[in-house]
Amino acid sequence: MAHAAPMFSMFLKASLAALALASWAQAEGSGEADLLRSPIRKVLIIGIDGLRADAFRLADTPNLDSLKRDGALAAHAVTDVLARSGPGWTSVLTGVWSWKHGARDNAFTGYRAELYPNFMDRLADARPGTVAGAVVNWKPIGSNLFGRRGFWVAPGDDKAVTEEAERLIGKGIPDVLFVHFDGVDHAGHTFGFSPDDPFYMWAVEKIDGWVGRLTQAVRGRTGEEWLIIVTSDHGGNYRHHGENVPSDRIVFVLANGPGCRPERSEGFRGVVDVAPTVFAYLGIPVRPEWKWDGRPLGYDPAPPAMSLTDRQQP
Ligand SMILES: [Zn+2]
Repeated sequence: MAHAAPMFSMFLKASLAALALASWAQAEGSGEADLLRSPIRKVLIIGIDGLRADAFRLADTPNLDSLKRDGALAAHAVTDVLARSGPGWTSVLTGVWSWKHGARDNAFTGYRAELYPNFMDRLADARPGTVAGAVVNWKPIGSNLFGRRGFWVAPGDDKAVTEEAERLIGKGIPDVLFVHFDGVDHAGHTFGFSPDDPFYMWAVEKIDGWVGRLTQAVRGRTGEEWLIIVTSDHGGNYRHHGENVPSDRIVFVLANGPGCRPERSEGFRGVVDVAPTVFAYLGIPVRPEWKWDGRPLGYDPAPPAMSLTDRQQP
């Protein structure tokens, strides 16, 4: 018992110090309080597999149209020269083309994950504690691109994908979420990849409904502000794709978020613009050694990080 008093007083001193610190923070730290009140920036990337640029433009899609209206739109963006899902989604998610990332087929054969990881891994390095992951219809995206650090789930069809994404967003879990829909690609392989095919176009309109639900889910979150990006991995021609031809390679990139300029990109952009757009929105510099191939859409790039030699200059 005799030792209890000094122990208690030590505890009391520590508590008082904490109290003093807390009141100081209240009095002097209004900047910090503002920081706590300012919304958390989050990112939703919607990947619509197999959606040609012309069908994206012509389909009856009220939800996508409203994102286009006040967002930045590259109505023509090329996907990888290997216009298939493995290389295409790898280009979207690594920010480099297949001659660098190496993935050459739908088994992701040749993928150099160590050199060109999912850009969300780089994000988690820059901002520790970032929760990034994917809800996908096509499992190999999850296992090959999210298996190392992020979480991923493949709950089933596009409806199940929507419901799982809604659930995760509603619980406030992901900071960056990639959601993959496959219905348009399925329609293309069955009926034909063409804006003249009513079944292909119907599939685009169906996914617009899922997009609307995800948009509502993020808009319903308080204390968060979301960048929404929509893109595709390839187009198609007749009932197949994979050739280096315009029908297969021309897709689109759409970005809609706080501070995004509603620019209309003349000429071609690329699906590799997705990663730098996310980093620009989050204010994180892109490092030259990552060898990224794209540039931000609708945002200015974050200023480069100060290097050690910069700091040494007077
Ligand atoms: Zn396909």
